Formats: sequence, structure tokens, C-alpha cells
Amino acid sequence: MRTELAAAKKGYFGEFGGRYVPAELEAPLSHVAEAYEEVKNDPSFQEELDYYLKDYAGRPSPLYHAERLSRELGGAQIFLKREDLNHTGSHKINNVLGQALLAKRMGAKRVIAETGAGQHGVATATACALLDMECVVYMGAVDAARQSLNVFRMELLGAKVVRVTAGGQRLKEAVDAALDDFAQNYRTTFYVLGSAVGPYPYPDIVRDFQSVIGREARTQILEKVGRLPDYLVACVGGGSNAIGLFAPFYGDETVRMVGCEPGGTGSGLGQNAAAISYGVPAIIHGFRCYALLDGDGEVAPTSSIAAGLDYPGIGPEHSFYKATGRAEYVAVSDQEALDAFQVLTRTEGIIPALESAHAVAHAIKLAPQLSTDQIMIVNLSGRGDKDADQVLQLLKR
Ligand SMILES: *Cc1c(COP(=O)(O)O)cnc(C)c1O
Repeated sequence: MRTELAAAKKGYFGEFGGRYVPAELEAPLSHVAEAYEEVKNDPSFQEELDYYLKDYAGRPSPLYHAERLSRELGGAQIFLKREDLNHTGSHKINNVLGQALLAKRMGAKRVIAETGAGQHGVATATACALLDMECVVYMGAVDAARQSLNVFRMELLGAKVVRVTAGGQRLKEAVDAALDDFAQNYRTTFYVLGSAVGPYPYPDIVRDFQSVIGREARTQILEKVGRLPDYLVACVGGGSNAIGLFAPFYGDETVRMVGCEPGGTGSGLGQNAAAISYGVPAIIHGFRCYALLDGDGEVAPTSSIAAGLDYPGIGPEHSFYKATGRAEYVAVSDQEALDAFQVLTRTEGIIPALESAHAVAHAIKLAPQLSTDQIMIVNLSGRGDKDADQVLQLLKR
């Protein structure tokens, strides 16, 4: 692929976002953008998506008042938005159903995706099984070997998993392979992206499909307590579950928003994946955002206890929220997330995903500083069954 950059005008959030891609990807991305503009305002599309969200994914997800946890912390009332109860166990299904239905409307016969830990791959394979579409998931060979159970799940669901053996055989190489496929085959193939990142139009598309979280939460909290919350708290990898909760409250100035980044084991290079806390504005992966770079200006290595948060950048809309002060972003360490994982499990009987445990950890810190009539909504992005084995190994040490 050629490397010259061309920025599209649409899709900016202040200085962030945009589309900085090789020329070969301009037409494929414009093709998706145009199709999305068309279906976005088509009531029959929204109706079809709503049908699957309700009868297939199980929406609306409950907004649960975690009374025992709130009482033990002695401060704000904590409400959990239960995305963990969705089919396949996280918020990811909201987005993949939307994108797979869009693909179908566009007449695509084939869907491709890339995945690191495998969760987005499994979600995409699920939507493709449901909608009877061919599905190809690119995965670095090293990742595929580590996540063999997720590979098996995808194959059970009828997807073809392509193990990418180039370079480091990780997510980066899987993304390159998926983009090559997309550039060559975009007339028949739709690329399903898993978070609110990447070049325009993907951050807009993913935000829109995940906004069902915030729309529901807004209605539910008004029904339950008759007023808007004081705080929204969500974990941030690429930022899709967080922007899905935050965006519908954007204009409500009294509602404060906190994104919880993976603080890992420390602030040093390679010890975390907290792009806003420790990064700088830069162009990576086709868009401008806060990103973690090394001394040479290359994308830095990252790490997190939660595979789903292990990304060196953050979505452009979050970058804009940070730059303008609309939301704040905090780093939550691996240890704090591990502790919160256990606290929520014991006090409420809910095992959170290690990703979501980052948001729970911040809630545990923040709630005692607030009064008992204040309200906090914490996005429980996923369930932790997938992490039980990893936590067992960590606790044995
Ligand atoms: C993938 C994942 C995340 C991180 O993705 P975002 O796009 O930042 O939401 C968070 N929680 C769970 C449970 C996930 O599976």
C-alpha cells in the first residue's frame, strides 16, 4: 500500500478523528460512509436493528441499583448498566448487529473482521451466523494460539479464522491483513470494526450503534429516581462502551463523565495502555487521537490485565471530550481492577469482566467522596466468566 496521507473533511471532533489512510482505502471507506448516511435515517433499518437488539440480544439491559455495594461504600448510589447480560456477554453485540445489518443492506456477501483477544471476532461471527453471512476473521498466529478457545468458538459459529503469520503475528498484522482484503474486495465485502476508533466513518458508526446504552440509561434513571445522574463511569479501551453511555448525555451539563483507562502496572512506557493519561495527540491507525508513542514517535507497546483495553490509542470523540474538558479520564491500575473484580462479585453476586472492573474500581474510589443522595451510573460492559481462569492464576501468586 502507498503511504501518502489524505484527510477527509468529515468525521472530525475538533482536531481529532478524520481519515488519514493510503489512497487504496479512500474508496472503500467512502462506500461505507455513503451507505451509512442512507440507512441512518431509514426507519425500516432502525426497526430491524431494534428487533434484533430486543429479541436476540435481550435489550433493554437492566439498570440495577447496587444497594449493597453503595451501602458498604457509604456514599453515592451506584447503578450498574448491565451490558454483561447481553447475548454473548458484553456490549460488543450492539455494534456488530448494527454493522452486520448495514453490510446486508449494502448487498455485501462477505464480512471480515480482525481480532486480538478474540472477543470482537466471536461477536462478529455470532452476527454472521444469525444473518447467514460469510465471515472471515483475521487473527495474528500468536494471538490465535493463545486464544484457542475463542478460535474454536468462531469456527463453531461458521467463521473462517485466518492466522496471520507476518511480522510479530499479533493484532497489528491482523489489522494490516484485514485492510488489504477490504481495499481489494470492498464491493462485496464489509469490514466490521470493533471499537469507536479508526478512520471516518467508523467512529461515528460505532458511537451511534452503542448509544443505545446511554439512551436506555437516561430513560431508566429518570424512571427510577426522577432525575439525571451526577456521574457516568465507564472503562475505555478504544472507547465504544464509554462513548455509547456518554454521548446521549453530552448536552446535560450537570452530568459528569469519567473514562477509566487501563493504568497497568505503572506510568512507564509499555506498562499501561492509558492513551489520554500518558499519551500525546498523534495520528495512528488512520485517525488523530491521544496515543502512546515511544521515543522514536512509533506506536508504543502496551499492556493491561484486561485484553479488551489493551490498545495504544483512544477514540477521537473521547480525545475531543478530554481536550475540551467535557469528560475526565483517569488511570486505574491492574491491581485496583483485580480488587474491584472481587469486591463486586462478593457484594452483589455479579462477576464483572476485567475490563469493566476498571470502571467499578473508580466507582469504589469516588462513591465515598460523594453524598448518599448523589447518583452514579457505572457501565458494566461485560461479564467476567471469560476471565475467571486468568484471575485464578493471578490470585495464586
Ligand atoms: C472489548 C471490551 C471492552 C473495550 O472496548 P471499548 O470499545 O473501549 O468499549 C470493554 N469491556 C468489555 C467487556 C469488552 O469486551
